[in-house]
Amino acid sequence: MNAIAPQVSSVSALPSAEELDRSLRDASPAEVIAAALKTVGREKLALVSSFGTESATLLKVMADVDPAIPVIFLDTGWLFEETLAYRDTLIATLGLKDVRSIKPAEETLTREDPERDLWFSDPDACCRIRKVEPLARALKPFSAWLNGRKRFQGNARADIPVVEDDGARLKFNPFANVSREELEAIFVRAKLPRHPLASSGFLSVGCMPCTSRTAEGEDERAGRWRGRAKTECGIHTMKTS
Ligand code: SF4
Repeated sequence: MNAIAPQVSSVSALPSAEELDRSLRDASPAEVIAAALKTVGREKLALVSSFGTESATLLKVMADVDPAIPVIFLDTGWLFEETLAYRDTLIATLGLKDVRSIKPAEETLTREDPERDLWFSDPDACCRIRKVEPLARALKPFSAWLNGRKRFQGNARADIPVVEDDGARLKFNPFANVSREELEAIFVRAKLPRHPLASSGFLSVGCMPCTSRTAEGEDERAGRWRGRAKTECGIHTMKTS
């Protein structure tokens, strides 16, 4: 019998995020995804993707491990047509078996954003009703999620662990340690298609009203919510219970 009982996270009966993070600190992205799968099983694991400029790399690694892991895509109602087309291209190219496009609730939009101008007057509220709340609903059946944040993406992400506890479930960041050069190598090696807007100066692509081109030398997320203090939409700071 073990003298030390395993720590249990807020996700009952699962190993703690700290324990998993310690054991996966130097693991490759594929090893992190495989460990997430082994920890909770495919029925309880989802990957959240924006189908943005770097998303193909994480989706490719996931598809090589298991293309049937559910993928949640937040269709906010403000996305570029190019992003929707890219989603469909990647589904076909990578053979993704279960991509779920999640939309905000119509009644919420009618009540809180009838003129579709909330992005301008109150972008935090707009992100809440179009991203945060729909994602919280979509994640309800799952015990863990995967996402594509990297430490090189700027100060707000410089210290992310490989595994954390978002307050309701385990959150795996398989690309936490990955460099921009390694991402590029995945694109080239796997001959992945690029986001249609990447070649016109968009290093990071989100919703249309809140995305602009990035100038030479700027952080890759500098074009998001340009001119505002806002740098994140809130899905990575929410408690997803
Ligand atoms: Fe609204 Fe902009 Fe947030 Fe999209 S990124 S949900 S348009 S505030």
